[in-house]
Amino acid sequence: MKITGVESFLIGIPYEHGAPKSALATSDGRLTQDAVYIRVATDAGITGWGEAFGFGGCLMSHLAMKRVIAPLAIGCDPRDIPALMTDLYRRTQGMSRNGPVGFALSGLDIALWDIAGKIAGKPIHALLGGARRQTIQSYASLLRIGAPDMVAKVCNIARARGYQHIKLHERTTEAVAAARAALGPDIGVMLDTNCTWDIARALEMCAQLRPYNLAWLEEPIFPPDDFAGLARLRRDGGIPIAAGENLGNTMDLQHAISLGAFDIAQPDLAKMGGITEMWKALDIARRANVRLEPHSPLFGPALIATLHVLAATPEDTLCEFYFADLEHTPVGPLGTPRDGMFTVPSGPGLGVDIDEALLARYRIE
Ligand SMILES: [Mg+2]
Repeated sequence: MKITGVESFLIGIPYEHGAPKSALATSDGRLTQDAVYIRVATDAGITGWGEAFGFGGCLMSHLAMKRVIAPLAIGCDPRDIPALMTDLYRRTQGMSRNGPVGFALSGLDIALWDIAGKIAGKPIHALLGGARRQTIQSYASLLRIGAPDMVAKVCNIARARGYQHIKLHERTTEAVAAARAALGPDIGVMLDTNCTWDIARALEMCAQLRPYNLAWLEEPIFPPDDFAGLARLRRDGGIPIAAGENLGNTMDLQHAISLGAFDIAQPDLAKMGGITEMWKALDIARRANVRLEPHSPLFGPALIATLHVLAATPEDTLCEFYFADLEHTPVGPLGTPRDGMFTVPSGPGLGVDIDEALLARYRIE
């Protein structure tokens, strides 16, 4: 069997999230949720779908797929995934340890697993040893909002939809206080600052934030790979520390864990090598007795791939859901939680039919 085509789709989907929007998530200031979908065609007539991380850099992941990875992958046999992925990582070793070329490779890996499942007639979780659960609890990962009263408003919307855990992308004690006041003591609250403080400031903020009983504090410091700094915050801050979405490979995950950087490790399979590497990451974290809660603020095939991995792993793990209502989603209803829960897909491969008419409708290039 040979790969006959690799096509990348850069799309932008309009959305609402209960508060004013920021253009941070798009390549050129549009108020949409952007994504990079990958379609891999084979001479056997089987098509696989993947997704590369992109966020504000979707255009770069899209170009990396089109110009770097697609020409290398076409003509290769898609069936031996570890061999093909290792070969492609070796051939791009100067540019794929992190960043858009690595993100594109991650998207390709997901598509290869989709193909493998379709060949076997089984869902991807069956190829990973079988689903241990049929539903996966999700947490509402609110977009950055700012004004505390708006934070409280969106927290109430999320709670009304059944979420028991809500993550804020805020940077002030006032926003956290507003969320806790709105939600009461029984809802899990997490705070993600996206690498905003230095260590001294982070320690001050930990002291301010401790009364709000955060389940975790995520990426409190810049740079995100100051693993010794994260270890110090774990020791002195008094709040569990989560990080890892900016890791580009499992070697870096291993290194960070060896330095004691995380209470909760958060690799992203759309960045760090797809399903193949996420399965290794789970093993690395398990051996080190570190909790792994994957980063997945995505709406497409990478989110669905994350559900397959979390269905098959022994640990009961939350799945992040970026709390935005898309106008439509090309992956269909399995891509949206109901009452705070995702349903584990059961069809072959990813188990979703990508709506190509919607991709065409939202395609930017
Ligand atoms: Mg984060």
